[in-house]
Amino acid sequence: MLIAPPSQDPSPEALEQPVRPSAPISRPTPNPQSQPLTEKNSPQPHPSHTGVVRRIVPVGEEKLVALTFDDGPWPDTLAVLEVLRQYGVKATFFWVGLHLQKRPEIAVQVVAEGHAIGNHSWSHRNTPMTPEEAGEEIERTAALIRHTTGLSTSLFRPPGGRLHNGLADYALQQGYTVVQWSVLSKDTEPLEALTIADNVLQGVQSGSIVLLHDGGGDRSKTVEALHTILPALQAQGYRFATVPELLESNRAAVPKAHAN
Ligand SMILES: [Zn+2]
Repeated sequence: MLIAPPSQDPSPEALEQPVRPSAPISRPTPNPQSQPLTEKNSPQPHPSHTGVVRRIVPVGEEKLVALTFDDGPWPDTLAVLEVLRQYGVKATFFWVGLHLQKRPEIAVQVVAEGHAIGNHSWSHRNTPMTPEEAGEEIERTAALIRHTTGLSTSLFRPPGGRLHNGLADYALQQGYTVVQWSVLSKDTEPLEALTIADNVLQGVQSGSIVLLHDGGGDRSKTVEALHTILPALQAQGYRFATVPELLESNRAAVPKAHAN
Protein backbone atom coordinates (compact mmCIF):
# COMPACT_ATOMS: atom_id res chain seq x y z
CA MET A 1 0.00 0.00 0.00
CA LEU A 2 1.25 3.46 -0.82
CA ILE A 3 1.68 5.71 2.14
CA ALA A 4 1.43 9.36 1.28
CA PRO A 5 3.57 11.94 3.04
CA PRO A 6 1.59 13.73 5.73
CA SER A 7 0.41 16.73 3.79
CA GLN A 8 -0.09 15.12 0.41
CA ASP A 9 -3.24 13.61 -0.93
CA PRO A 10 -2.42 11.01 -3.56
CA SER A 11 -4.29 10.59 -6.77
CA PRO A 12 -7.36 8.33 -6.64
CA GLU A 13 -5.41 5.74 -8.63
CA ALA A 14 -3.09 5.37 -5.68
CA LEU A 15 -5.92 4.77 -3.27
CA GLU A 16 -7.38 1.54 -2.12
CA GLN A 17 -10.52 0.29 -3.77
CA PRO A 18 -13.28 2.80 -3.07
CA VAL A 19 -16.11 1.48 -0.96
CA ARG A 20 -18.67 3.28 -3.04
CA PRO A 21 -18.77 3.55 -6.81
CA SER A 22 -17.75 6.92 -8.16
CA ALA A 23 -21.10 7.23 -9.89
CA PRO A 24 -23.21 10.16 -8.78
CA ILE A 25 -25.94 9.68 -6.26
CA SER A 26 -29.03 8.88 -8.25
CA ARG A 27 -32.70 9.66 -7.67
CA PRO A 28 -34.95 8.16 -6.57
CA THR A 29 -32.93 6.40 -3.94
CA PRO A 30 -34.28 2.93 -3.26
CA ASN A 31 -32.68 2.74 0.14
CA PRO A 32 -33.13 5.87 2.22
CA GLN A 33 -30.11 4.92 4.30
CA SER A 34 -27.90 5.44 1.27
CA GLN A 35 -28.74 9.13 1.21
CA PRO A 36 -25.98 11.37 2.47
CA LEU A 37 -26.49 12.69 5.94
CA THR A 38 -25.83 16.29 6.74
CA GLU A 39 -26.96 16.23 10.34
CA LYS A 40 -24.30 14.99 12.65
CA ASN A 41 -26.84 14.00 15.25
CA SER A 42 -28.76 11.65 13.03
CA PRO A 43 -31.20 9.46 14.96
CA GLN A 44 -29.73 6.23 13.59
CA PRO A 45 -26.07 5.34 13.75
CA HIS A 46 -24.89 5.50 10.18
CA PRO A 47 -24.30 2.06 8.68
CA SER A 48 -20.72 1.62 7.62
CA HIS A 49 -19.75 2.79 4.12
CA THR A 50 -23.03 4.36 3.11
CA GLY A 51 -22.17 8.01 3.58
CA VAL A 52 -19.18 8.37 1.27
CA VAL A 53 -19.66 10.98 -1.45
CA ARG A 54 -17.43 11.78 -4.42
CA ARG A 55 -19.70 13.72 -6.72
CA ILE A 56 -23.17 14.95 -5.82
CA VAL A 57 -25.35 15.65 -8.81
CA PRO A 58 -27.81 18.49 -8.22
CA VAL A 59 -31.45 17.77 -8.90
CA GLY A 60 -32.25 21.02 -10.70
CA GLU A 61 -30.95 22.54 -13.89
CA GLU A 62 -28.37 24.70 -12.18
CA LYS A 63 -24.73 23.72 -12.77
CA LEU A 64 -23.01 23.51 -9.41
CA VAL A 65 -19.43 22.74 -8.44
CA ALA A 66 -17.84 22.53 -4.99
CA LEU A 67 -14.25 23.58 -4.38
CA THR A 68 -12.65 21.98 -1.33
CA PHE A 69 -9.41 23.09 0.33
CA ASP A 70 -7.48 20.71 2.57
CA ASP A 71 -4.78 20.86 5.23
CA GLY A 72 -5.29 24.36 6.62
CA PRO A 73 -5.62 26.66 8.40
CA TRP A 74 -2.34 27.85 6.93
CA PRO A 75 -0.76 31.24 6.14
CA ASP A 76 -1.66 30.70 2.45
CA THR A 77 -5.31 30.37 3.46
CA LEU A 78 -5.50 34.17 3.58
CA ALA A 79 -4.52 34.47 -0.09
CA VAL A 80 -7.07 31.79 -1.01
CA LEU A 81 -9.76 33.70 0.88
CA GLU A 82 -8.85 36.87 -0.98
CA VAL A 83 -9.34 35.28 -4.42
CA LEU A 84 -12.58 33.61 -3.38
CA ARG A 85 -13.85 36.96 -2.10
CA GLN A 86 -12.85 38.67 -5.34
CA TYR A 87 -15.06 36.28 -7.37
CA GLY A 88 -17.83 35.93 -4.80
CA VAL A 89 -17.14 32.23 -4.36
CA LYS A 90 -17.92 30.08 -1.30
CA ALA A 91 -15.91 26.91 -0.72
CA THR A 92 -15.40 24.18 1.88
CA PHE A 93 -12.26 23.94 4.03
CA PHE A 94 -11.17 20.66 5.66
CA TRP A 95 -9.01 21.42 8.66
CA VAL A 96 -6.21 19.49 10.31
CA GLY A 97 -6.51 19.86 14.10
CA LEU A 98 -2.80 20.48 14.60
CA HIS A 99 -2.91 23.32 12.07
CA LEU A 100 -6.10 24.74 13.56
CA GLN A 101 -4.45 24.80 16.97
CA LYS A 102 -1.66 27.02 15.57
CA ARG A 103 -3.84 29.41 13.55
CA PRO A 104 -7.25 29.79 15.14
CA GLU A 105 -7.58 33.38 13.92
CA ILE A 106 -7.43 32.23 10.30
CA ALA A 107 -10.12 29.65 11.01
CA VAL A 108 -12.37 32.31 12.48
CA GLN A 109 -11.91 34.38 9.32
CA VAL A 110 -12.80 31.43 7.06
CA VAL A 111 -16.09 31.00 8.91
CA ALA A 112 -16.77 34.74 9.05
CA GLU A 113 -16.48 34.92 5.25
CA GLY A 114 -19.24 32.34 4.86
CA HIS A 115 -17.30 29.25 3.88
CA ALA A 116 -18.19 25.74 5.04
CA ILE A 117 -15.80 23.66 7.11
CA GLY A 118 -15.03 20.01 7.67
CA ASN A 119 -12.86 17.78 9.84
CA HIS A 120 -9.64 16.40 8.29
CA SER A 121 -8.31 14.58 11.40
CA TRP A 122 -5.98 15.80 14.11
CA SER A 123 -2.54 14.81 12.81
CA HIS A 124 -3.19 13.87 9.16
CA ARG A 125 -1.99 10.36 9.99
CA ASN A 126 -3.31 7.87 7.43
CA THR A 127 -1.88 4.56 8.65
CA PRO A 128 -4.16 1.87 10.16
CA MET A 129 -5.45 2.70 13.62
CA THR A 130 -7.70 1.33 16.33
CA PRO A 131 -11.22 2.71 16.84
CA GLU A 132 -9.90 4.48 19.94
CA GLU A 133 -7.12 6.13 17.95
CA ALA A 134 -9.53 7.05 15.15
CA GLY A 135 -11.90 8.53 17.70
CA GLU A 136 -9.11 10.60 19.17
CA GLU A 137 -8.10 11.93 15.73
CA ILE A 138 -11.65 12.97 14.86
CA GLU A 139 -13.11 14.00 18.21
CA ARG A 140 -10.14 16.11 19.25
CA THR A 141 -10.42 18.08 16.01
CA ALA A 142 -14.20 18.35 16.31
CA ALA A 143 -13.84 19.71 19.84
CA LEU A 144 -11.27 22.28 18.74
CA ILE A 145 -13.46 23.35 15.82
CA ARG A 146 -16.35 23.88 18.26
CA HIS A 147 -14.11 25.74 20.68
CA THR A 148 -12.62 27.96 17.96
CA THR A 149 -15.66 28.71 15.82
CA GLY A 150 -18.68 27.62 17.85
CA LEU A 151 -19.63 25.29 14.99
CA SER A 152 -20.08 21.55 14.68
CA THR A 153 -19.35 19.97 11.33
CA SER A 154 -20.91 16.81 9.91
CA LEU A 155 -18.28 16.54 7.15
CA PHE A 156 -15.14 14.43 7.39
CA ARG A 157 -12.41 13.95 4.80
CA PRO A 158 -9.91 11.19 5.55
CA PRO A 159 -6.24 12.13 5.06
CA GLY A 160 -5.08 10.92 1.65
CA GLY A 161 -8.66 9.92 0.89
CA ARG A 162 -7.98 6.57 2.55
CA LEU A 163 -11.12 4.73 3.51
CA HIS A 164 -9.79 1.59 5.18
CA ASN A 165 -7.53 2.66 8.01
CA GLY A 166 -10.27 3.04 10.63
CA LEU A 167 -10.88 6.79 10.37
CA ALA A 168 -13.69 6.72 7.81
CA ASP A 169 -15.40 3.83 9.61
CA TYR A 170 -15.39 5.79 12.85
CA ALA A 171 -16.65 8.93 11.11
CA LEU A 172 -19.49 7.06 9.40
CA GLN A 173 -20.54 5.42 12.64
CA GLN A 174 -20.74 8.87 14.19
CA GLY A 175 -23.00 10.09 11.38
CA TYR A 176 -20.48 12.11 9.43
CA THR A 177 -20.64 12.33 5.66
CA VAL A 178 -17.26 11.24 4.33
CA VAL A 179 -16.39 13.65 1.54
CA GLN A 180 -14.01 12.41 -1.15
CA TRP A 181 -13.62 14.16 -4.51
CA SER A 182 -14.26 13.60 -8.20
CA VAL A 183 -11.75 16.10 -9.60
CA LEU A 184 -8.09 16.18 -8.63
CA SER A 185 -6.19 19.43 -9.16
CA LYS A 186 -2.85 17.75 -8.29
CA ASP A 187 -1.86 21.03 -6.66
CA THR A 188 0.46 19.26 -4.20
CA GLU A 189 2.64 18.22 -7.11
CA PRO A 190 5.26 20.62 -8.52
CA LEU A 191 3.03 21.87 -11.33
CA GLU A 192 2.60 25.24 -12.95
CA ALA A 193 -0.55 27.13 -12.05
CA LEU A 194 -1.95 26.77 -15.56
CA THR A 195 -1.56 22.99 -15.37
CA ILE A 196 -3.35 22.90 -12.03
CA ALA A 197 -6.12 25.05 -13.52
CA ASP A 198 -6.30 22.80 -16.56
CA ASN A 199 -6.61 19.68 -14.39
CA VAL A 200 -9.64 21.25 -12.76
CA LEU A 201 -11.25 22.73 -15.87
CA GLN A 202 -10.89 19.48 -17.84
CA GLY A 203 -12.47 17.45 -15.05
CA VAL A 204 -15.39 19.53 -13.83
CA GLN A 205 -18.97 18.57 -14.54
CA SER A 206 -22.05 19.49 -12.57
CA GLY A 207 -21.87 18.16 -9.03
CA SER A 208 -18.10 17.79 -9.06
CA ILE A 209 -16.16 18.03 -5.82
CA VAL A 210 -12.71 19.47 -6.56
CA LEU A 211 -9.70 18.70 -4.36
CA LEU A 212 -7.39 21.66 -3.74
CA HIS A 213 -5.08 22.59 -0.86
CA ASP A 214 -4.72 25.80 1.09
CA GLY A 215 -2.32 24.25 3.62
CA GLY A 216 0.51 21.83 4.13
CA GLY A 217 3.04 23.67 1.96
CA ASP A 218 3.57 26.60 -0.36
CA ARG A 219 0.19 27.06 -2.04
CA SER A 220 1.02 30.08 -4.19
CA LYS A 221 0.45 28.02 -7.36
CA THR A 222 -2.98 27.04 -6.11
CA VAL A 223 -3.81 30.68 -5.49
CA GLU A 224 -2.57 31.59 -8.96
CA ALA A 225 -4.59 28.76 -10.51
CA LEU A 226 -7.75 30.03 -8.82
CA HIS A 227 -7.45 33.24 -10.83
CA THR A 228 -7.94 31.09 -13.94
CA ILE A 229 -10.35 28.48 -12.55
CA LEU A 230 -12.92 30.79 -10.98
CA PRO A 231 -13.70 33.09 -13.94
CA ALA A 232 -13.51 30.20 -16.42
CA LEU A 233 -16.12 28.12 -14.60
CA GLN A 234 -18.31 31.14 -13.96
CA ALA A 235 -18.19 31.90 -17.71
CA GLN A 236 -19.36 28.33 -18.33
CA GLY A 237 -22.40 28.99 -16.14
CA TYR A 238 -21.26 27.21 -13.00
CA ARG A 239 -22.17 28.39 -9.55
CA PHE A 240 -19.80 27.52 -6.73
CA ALA A 241 -21.56 25.73 -3.87
CA THR A 242 -20.27 24.56 -0.53
CA VAL A 243 -20.42 20.83 0.11
CA PRO A 244 -23.44 21.24 2.44
CA GLU A 245 -25.20 23.19 -0.34
CA LEU A 246 -24.35 20.48 -2.84
CA LEU A 247 -25.75 17.81 -0.52
CA GLU A 248 -28.88 19.91 -0.10
CA SER A 249 -29.24 20.38 -3.88
CA ASN A 250 -29.28 16.61 -4.25
CA ARG A 251 -31.93 16.12 -1.59
CA ALA A 252 -34.17 18.90 -2.82
CA ALA A 253 -36.06 16.65 -5.22
CA VAL A 254 -37.65 14.46 -2.58
CA PRO A 255 -40.35 16.88 -1.32
CA LYS A 256 -40.90 18.19 -4.87
CA ALA A 257 -41.48 14.70 -6.21
CA HIS A 258 -43.99 14.05 -3.45
CA ALA A 259 -45.75 17.34 -4.10
CA ASN A 260 -46.27 16.40 -7.73
ZN1 LIG B 1 -4.93 16.31 3.49
